[in-house]
Amino acid sequence: MINFTVGPVQMDKETRDLGIEQIPYFRTPEFSELMKENEKLLCSFFDAPDESRVIFLTGSGTASMEGGVMNFFTPEDKVIVVNGGSFGHRLVELCQIHEIPYAEIKLDYGKPLTEDHLKEFEGKGYTGFLVQLCETSTGVLYNMNMIGDFCRRNGIFLFVDAVSGFMADEISMKKMGINAAITGSQKALALPPSMSFTIMDGKAIERCQKINVKNLYFNYPDYLKNGERGQTPFTPAVGTLIQLNEKLKRIEATGGIKKQNELAREKAAYFRNKIKSLPFKLFSEEKDSSNCVTALCPTNPNVNAHKLFELIKDEYGIWICPNAGDMAEKVFRVGHIGSISKKEIDILVDAFFDLQKRNLL
Ligand SMILES: *Cc1c(COP(=O)(O)O)cnc(C)c1O
Repeated sequence: MINFTVGPVQMDKETRDLGIEQIPYFRTPEFSELMKENEKLLCSFFDAPDESRVIFLTGSGTASMEGGVMNFFTPEDKVIVVNGGSFGHRLVELCQIHEIPYAEIKLDYGKPLTEDHLKEFEGKGYTGFLVQLCETSTGVLYNMNMIGDFCRRNGIFLFVDAVSGFMADEISMKKMGINAAITGSQKALALPPSMSFTIMDGKAIERCQKINVKNLYFNYPDYLKNGERGQTPFTPAVGTLIQLNEKLKRIEATGGIKKQNELAREKAAYFRNKIKSLPFKLFSEEKDSSNCVTALCPTNPNVNAHKLFELIKDEYGIWICPNAGDMAEKVFRVGHIGSISKKEIDILVDAFFDLQKRNLL
């Protein structure tokens, strides 16, 4: 099978080779050192301010979305949530569950956030802003410089879910004024699913310490304290952290995060260019799109997006990424993250052309 989903994605050989090894005992200075290195490299790839720290949480990306909502906000806050798809909607649900007062910016799915959306929130005493970097369900990349400026101007704490966007799209906590950002192991880092990471600046560290959430597993001050000696409060996915270390060092040695952004851009452009003559419409305009994923709608009204996913899986041995909920019948996605070659993109494009020849597209 070839995997064009947005996670878990295809892993590099280096990552897979490590996956067959025994899992070492981890309460050791050697493992602490590896963790310190992971923290340093993640901070550098997010372009985080000097005082920044990382929370290593065992749990998928959603665990760090929830952990962030719990550790950075309280019912005394008043936050803005951008809901432009399933992941934005998840942030809304988290605010509801944890009783964080919120205002929702509900976008037409596939459309970008603009200055106009933000105008009515200017100078209104909001304290938090929750948004994705890339809304993975629609492929939209939000304008983080615009959001960062708005938050700086209004003294608002900015929490960014960059689970899918990190590595595919540019992110700089310093430049964009991001206080805390998260990513997950099974997206562009191309590791097994199991862990998610929160990069926190000084303000985020201060905030979670002041709030000191009443929760055992999600208590970030406890993670920070243990992290000072390169450890976590509880047993982490040790194998994933070893694979993370190898991957981060390899990125560093091969042109850094800028190079990764470039490769992702190249791959996304290569794919989008190849499908120009096919009966698909881009769900989000190219200028608003992330390099992580391309969301597509078949233009033939007789073609069902979910059926197409099944057909390509069963008859061509390729996973594209189906959509859930309201978009399931109309939209499917092709991921550009993980270990995907141009040759594999060609194979997928050939499958589409073959379907067209068979009058199935
Ligand atoms: C994948 C993803 C998540 C996390 O999903 P999990 O299934 O919990 O790993 C969160 N946010 C975005 C934007 C994502 O793409």
